[in-house]
Amino acid sequence: MQPRKYVLLCAAALAILLPFGSMAEEKVDLYAIQRIRAEEREHSKVMDTLFYLSDVNGPRLTNTPNYFSAADWVVKQMKDLGLPAKAEKWGPFGRSWRVDKYYAAMSEPQYMPLIGFPLAWSGSTDGPITAEATIAAIYTEADMAKYKGKLKGKVVLATAPREIEQSTKPLSSRWSEAELADMEKYPEASERNQAAYRSRLPAPWQNLSRDELQTIRKKINEFFASEQVAAVLSYGYAGDDGTVFGSSAGSRETKDPVPPTSIVVTPEHYNRIYRLLSHNIPVKLDLDVKTEILEPQDSVNVIAEIPGAAKKDEIVMLGAHLDSWHGGTGATDNGAGSAVMIEAVRLLKTLNLRMERTVRLGLWGGEEEGLLGSKAYVKEHFGDPETMKLTSEHAKLDGYFNVDNGSGRIRGIYLQGNDMCRPIFEQWFSAFKDMDAKAITIRDTGGTDHLSFDAVGLPGFQFIQDELEYSTLTHHSNMDVYDHVSENDLKQAATIVAAFVYMTANRPEMLPRKPLPPPHPAPKHTEEEPSKGKPASGTADVAKPAK
Ligand SMILES: [Zn+2]
Repeated sequence: MQPRKYVLLCAAALAILLPFGSMAEEKVDLYAIQRIRAEEREHSKVMDTLFYLSDVNGPRLTNTPNYFSAADWVVKQMKDLGLPAKAEKWGPFGRSWRVDKYYAAMSEPQYMPLIGFPLAWSGSTDGPITAEATIAAIYTEADMAKYKGKLKGKVVLATAPREIEQSTKPLSSRWSEAELADMEKYPEASERNQAAYRSRLPAPWQNLSRDELQTIRKKINEFFASEQVAAVLSYGYAGDDGTVFGSSAGSRETKDPVPPTSIVVTPEHYNRIYRLLSHNIPVKLDLDVKTEILEPQDSVNVIAEIPGAAKKDEIVMLGAHLDSWHGGTGATDNGAGSAVMIEAVRLLKTLNLRMERTVRLGLWGGEEEGLLGSKAYVKEHFGDPETMKLTSEHAKLDGYFNVDNGSGRIRGIYLQGNDMCRPIFEQWFSAFKDMDAKAITIRDTGGTDHLSFDAVGLPGFQFIQDELEYSTLTHHSNMDVYDHVSENDLKQAATIVAAFVYMTANRPEMLPRKPLPPPHPAPKHTEEEPSKGKPASGTADVAKPAK
């Protein structure tokens, strides 16, 4: 057993600030923190882990072979550390799909290779083809009627070009002290973000509900398929300068038709083709897209744990989603978060720190499609938000910590409405003043896997992270790659996560819980409508209150 020296931090200051001992003093184990800091500073493996997740295994779209091989790789790492680990099944997910080949270029009136990639779950071209491009603005049933019989064998540009604005803001940013202070104030910013997202949709879609939007998109895909278009060309919902943001073309459900060949390209290339066509200059495209639909199978989450000591039946969880989109290699979303969590487990295990409670790692699949892996895990192990029927394990889950906002360092934590944890986290963060982490906001943040825990009344938290290039360059883009991950930021995050998990595992009491919610629908998070606080970019993961 390690020599232990507990230091009561800020006790004097707290005594002045807090009336009548309304807040317990937290034990901040500076000796353990010292060791965690030193191990991460001197022997970090976090970038090595990221390399294997992103460069070696590649993009980890759920249920692709890459996803399963990454999951197997993590299980092996955990076993090599001497920890029990497994890939735990959940499902069904829908189609398993992958890209085998992508070639796209304008061949007339000039040669121009197209920067882009096929959208998820879309179909192949019939080998290498040359096809005419055509503009067909299709948003409604009436638009479909107008173009019926006119699109066979064509590459369709269905949306208006995107105006490219000169970029005058830095691509990478960190939270300023003033922004963090603003975040710590109570008011929410969700409506503004939803409104901003809506305003970026084409005008005919701005007033549709989420379900109506999904329905019309599905109908348009079916229309394109029935018209036998050669392909559908689009640009991403964000990004320019060759950075292409894109996720899916439509449904992954095995019961639905496969969306037509759907290619997302950088808006500058889309715009050039559009301008040529608008001037009645014919455009031909050479395409060779091969996507593959594999046998459907259940998906997996990766679960590993460090068994606890005196209270080993009580569990502290840390997690991140292992899956990604496929335009890049999922390095910032969420190879970074996964690498941080794997590293935090490595730190705690390597240092052999005594922890009273069991520490369990959960790396989730299907986050990008709606928190599917973590929702399935919570339903199986802790309870169903729709009925609020809880399992016996529910009483034993102390808390869950999540990292999923890119590679930016930890600047604080979202309380997710749990004010009782504020004084606890404040005292823990007091040991990390030199690492710029201290902001605590009562706000909740959406779009990632802590929601699955929060939904059944379990303490689930996502950290506040610096934005860096997340919304400008990497989130669901072809530039979500290793080179855009900040090593120092990951090391800082792994250090703080390890310390938070350690202190949770050794607290005399479990973390305080909010009252149980009544039965309610499971948290949703779909591509079409980001949760509150997220940028307009689509699926998941960023929480950035309005500035
Ligand atoms: Zn994401």
